Amino acid sequence: MGIEEVKNKADLALKRGKLRSVIDPVRLERKDTFRFGCHPGVPCFTRCCRNMNIILTPYDIVRIKERLEMPADLFLHLYAQPEIFVQTGVPVARLKMLEDEGGRCPFVTPSGCQIYTDRPVCCRYYPIGIASLHQHEKNSGEKEEFFFLIKEGHCQGFKEQTEWTVDAWRGDQEADLYDSMNRGWLELLLRKRSFGDEAEMPPKARQLFYMVTTNMERFRSFIFESRFLDTYTVNEETLKRILEDDAALMKFGFEYLKQAIFGTESSELKLKKEVLDSQVKKIMEKRNSARLKNRGKL
Ligand code: SF4
Ligand code: SF4
Repeated sequence: MGIEEVKNKADLALKRGKLRSVIDPVRLERKDTFRFGCHPGVPCFTRCCRNMNIILTPYDIVRIKERLEMPADLFLHLYAQPEIFVQTGVPVARLKMLEDEGGRCPFVTPSGCQIYTDRPVCCRYYPIGIASLHQHEKNSGEKEEFFFLIKEGHCQGFKEQTEWTVDAWRGDQEADLYDSMNRGWLELLLRKRSFGDEAEMPPKARQLFYMVTTNMERFRSFIFESRFLDTYTVNEETLKRILEDDAALMKFGFEYLKQAIFGTESSELKLKKEVLDSQVKKIMEKRNSARLKNRGKL
């Protein structure tokens, strides 16, 4: 998507909400600079941490629940609201704001964000947005990315003198790490969108998708305490890794969903031959019985 398209889409959405555009229509490259600062000295400090629509990525959940030393079940119960992401029809977890306290984020305090070093990805990237030129992807297989500034009207951070390059800002925010951790999840969302509206995800698939992308303890039990390992072959090294490491398990989950929901092969796990044979047999039996039924109608 190019900068004009990004800007037009944002303008349209904002006009509907009768707001001004917040996107500065200037393309920024990694070495370009901007001035910004967000610290307890800015007059608007923490004012933006309310009424935000924050979709938690799987890696956000892994980091925050670890930071809070909380199991995923409890974290999701206290802080997340499941919802269907309209653009793609897949289930996601939204961070619940505190309704009875003016929509305040549950993690904001007068001295700042309680989980600052583990805050969600969407709190990290502001004020730098990212866009990709998809037409270049199609033509050359290469992805061209560029950046733009998002300027919220109430944000006083742009009056600060600290100068950043886009690269330095992204480094400071751990943006590359977060991008690499969330890439598999974003690919699943895009894959679902490419199927269009007709391909609605069945309720069981939605449940599975939500569990695998939000709840590492449940997903781990699903692998090690159900018939999962009777169905799939997973190598010993991977099993050791995902038994102990939530981030490794999360990435394994993206591979599993690619295969279980979208039928794409993965190098991380393989359907066992006897399971595959039995699935093929069932499909053939279904086809044959449908064919016989149709013949009977003629
Ligand atoms: S998670 Fe932290 S940075 Fe993000 S809205 Fe809440 S308090 Fe603000
Ligand atoms: S409005 Fe801008 S400067 Fe103020 S706290 Fe939020 S991000 Fe920081």
